[in-house]
Amino acid sequence: MIVNHHERIHSDEGNLCKKCMSELENLYIYLELSTEELDLLDMPRRSFTVHFPVHMDSGKTKMFLGHRVQYNDARGPTKGGIRFHPELTLDDVRDLAFLMALKCAVVNIPFGGAKGGVAVNPKELSRRELELVTRGYIRAISDYIGPYKDIPAPDVYTDEKIMAWILDEFERIKGEHVPGVVTGKPIELGGSKARSYSTSLGGIHVLEEALKKTKMNKSKARIAIQGFGNVGENAARILHQTGYKITAVSDSRGGVMNDEGLDIPELMEHKQKTGSVMDFRGGKNITNEELLVSDCDILIPAALSEQLNESNAKDVKAKLILELANAPTTIEADGVFQDKKILVIPDILANAGGVVVSFFEWVQNLNNDYWEEDKVLEKLKSTMVASFNDVYGMCIEENCSMRRAAYQLAVKRILHAEKLRGNL
Ligand code: GLU
Repeated sequence: MIVNHHERIHSDEGNLCKKCMSELENLYIYLELSTEELDLLDMPRRSFTVHFPVHMDSGKTKMFLGHRVQYNDARGPTKGGIRFHPELTLDDVRDLAFLMALKCAVVNIPFGGAKGGVAVNPKELSRRELELVTRGYIRAISDYIGPYKDIPAPDVYTDEKIMAWILDEFERIKGEHVPGVVTGKPIELGGSKARSYSTSLGGIHVLEEALKKTKMNKSKARIAIQGFGNVGENAARILHQTGYKITAVSDSRGGVMNDEGLDIPELMEHKQKTGSVMDFRGGKNITNEELLVSDCDILIPAALSEQLNESNAKDVKAKLILELANAPTTIEADGVFQDKKILVIPDILANAGGVVVSFFEWVQNLNNDYWEEDKVLEKLKSTMVASFNDVYGMCIEENCSMRRAAYQLAVKRILHAEKLRGNL
């Protein structure tokens, strides 16, 4: 029975990526899920691809390719970011949408999961072209998004300026104000206080809870952060302000390291001026590969997926990994980390602070309300701490990894909602 199922889900029509599927399969066996339950989780509810024309600065028209996957909406409207990346495929989007469904369930907010994006390198577009690509994509998917259907947000290489264009394009089409259609907006257009650094801060709340459990000495902990985009930079900034020592950071070009600790405010200025963290006078240049295996206690991958893999996992020296990126660890690396007893705080918990504050933004929009920063911060903290304790409690009870516990908690919540709806 299990073997048959195993074959089916790994056939060419198979749905989820190897890693997601392997987690799901383990749960299938462990939680004794029925094949109906597995089927329901294995397939996205709606998945679509669009092509749209953009009039480029050259005077020529170019066709662009976009995707959106609405994975599961049993717990509420689907929710998830939009990424602009040249190598984006429908498969990536589907896997990321699945992770969003789990993420919203882990932190117990009333959303399902979605993800979308355009296959484009935004660095090669002018500002005008970037705006037209954004608007073209939103026109192509406008029938399928909305505050009670599917709510986009920022993701890799998209920011609040792009969210403002999304809002404007959608409102032009509908002929009315609909601020709740997108989150991560500028504050002036109905965005929430603290949304811009909420993914990083939420991760730090989870990290602090984990440190209490592991009894790692906070003042001595050396931290390496891969990625200096919105999430990585804000994580470095807040950790530095809180008194942690950051010994290495990197961006897509390369990294910089200093065993005595980097001066993050100065490094941020350097990045602002030069466009990279490299060649900073307060440290020595290293590669991204060197950063991942550098001598540190806490490693924070905050860039793209599959950075920790078969080729480098055995050399990782950190005792704790906080996954601020989505899916930074391959299945092989995860196995190595378990053998090495490295505590991995999985993405669907570690980086959920972003979608938690997106939820607060949506609530404010639906109520025409406006919360002070303190209120947002307090609610973010209590949500992240409670979620950490839910997952950690299950991890101890079941004697399993944090990732397994988080998946288990999320899957149970989603299936419970499906049962209440009568779908199972
Ligand atoms: N893109 C972010 C994530 O992967 C945020 C999604 C949201 O706020 O909806 O969690």
